[in-house]
Amino acid sequence: MAIDMNVFRGFAEQIKMLPQMARPTDCPDNERVKHAKAIFSTKIDASNATQLESCVHCGLCAEACQFYIQTEDPELTPIHKLDLLKRYYRREKAPLRWLHRLIEPDITEADLEATQHLVYESCTECGRCGLVCPMGIDIAAMVHVTREGLAHAGLIPAGLRAVEQEQGSRGTVFGVGPDQLRQAADELRAKGHEVPIDKDKADVLVLTSTIDVLLFKDALEATVKVMNHLGLDWTIHSCAFEGANFGLLSGYSEVQKSASERITSQAIALGARMVIVPECGHAYPALRWAGANAHGAPLPFEVMALSEFLGREVMAGRLQLNPIGADKHVTYHDPCKIGRHGGVFDEPRAVLQALGVDMREMPSNRTANFCCGGGAGLFVMEKAEPMRNAAFDLKRQQVEATGAGSVVTACGSCRINLMAGAGRTQWSTPIESLVELVGANLK
Ligand code: SF4
Ligand code: SF4
Repeated sequence: MAIDMNVFRGFAEQIKMLPQMARPTDCPDNERVKHAKAIFSTKIDASNATQLESCVHCGLCAEACQFYIQTEDPELTPIHKLDLLKRYYRREKAPLRWLHRLIEPDITEADLEATQHLVYESCTECGRCGLVCPMGIDIAAMVHVTREGLAHAGLIPAGLRAVEQEQGSRGTVFGVGPDQLRQAADELRAKGHEVPIDKDKADVLVLTSTIDVLLFKDALEATVKVMNHLGLDWTIHSCAFEGANFGLLSGYSEVQKSASERITSQAIALGARMVIVPECGHAYPALRWAGANAHGAPLPFEVMALSEFLGREVMAGRLQLNPIGADKHVTYHDPCKIGRHGGVFDEPRAVLQALGVDMREMPSNRTANFCCGGGAGLFVMEKAEPMRNAAFDLKRQQVEATGAGSVVTACGSCRINLMAGAGRTQWSTPIESLVELVGANLK
């Protein structure tokens, strides 16, 4: 199950090339502020306005954020990341806006540019700050509103913009489209697996991701093995297989909607009762919540993260596993969007219990888990590297405190960031995939 490190290094090099592949934005400089304000105006509803009014400056959010903890840079205090949005709110929407207009300057293009680093490269929208805020301010959600404003002002960081532009224009991510998926399926068939692609009707639509097709091929193989082992009526669809949604990550809602609607409409055409999202943290909210909003009606199927699905099958006794043994000591890293945002904590732990391993929790675990540092697209942002490194260093301390021999997770982006950090610091602790452990130990 070890991945070829040459393949991993090649993938990392491909990511470094992304800024050169980004097309210039089509937003003229003198229209950026207008476009950002138009988004802010739409997004600041009564709920967001209340939150923007509520901060009591207690500072607790700073102590919750991995980037502030690691750097102690006051610029990285979570609530500070909302300064631009708050200024817009005070001048344009607040009850005393006439007064604020007298004492606060209007937003400028330079203000937008200065905010780019705060909301893209220094925030993974992990939600840990909102968890501790005594006023219940959902800072991550409003960081995302700010991202949306900047995205429509043409200020998505170049690396992320390159992938968003590719997904928006060609529907592919890192060049992976239907042909590459079919090739991956043929490779699995050559290994003896049945891979149902493009069935007309199916009970379960299984998504995968570019990361699994290109890099974590064992995760894709393990997913196929599990579906077949359970005897499900399932399919992968070559026109709707990509779980990753770079429209969501960038804040560019048009791309986000088209990517999620592609999946939703295919699932409806199949008559699917369930869509299973691969080991990809943000693919889960991209379909389950943002996808439902984009659809404009409740989704007529259940959306499950792969780790959630595996856990439920184990708990129901339908998925039985061969115990690995308690001499394998592991810890589990909860991907923020699946765990803290999605509430999927018990399911992956049920899988690890069924595998009979010695599971050791990190000092900060479950809802309090620290982000890997690569979420919300930071893994493709060139200038985010110091932040990714800082978060990894904290995560490494957390893992080492457990004495575990490996870290298991259920998100390809988390794996990439943890593996990159391990490579940088010559850390030999393996980073493992939950579904790969399951696939290798089916009873
Ligand atoms: S959402 Fe996470 S990364 Fe962003 S400010 Fe809050 S704690 Fe920090
Ligand atoms: S924890 Fe909440 S109330 Fe306290 S400073 Fe942060 S945003 Fe403001």
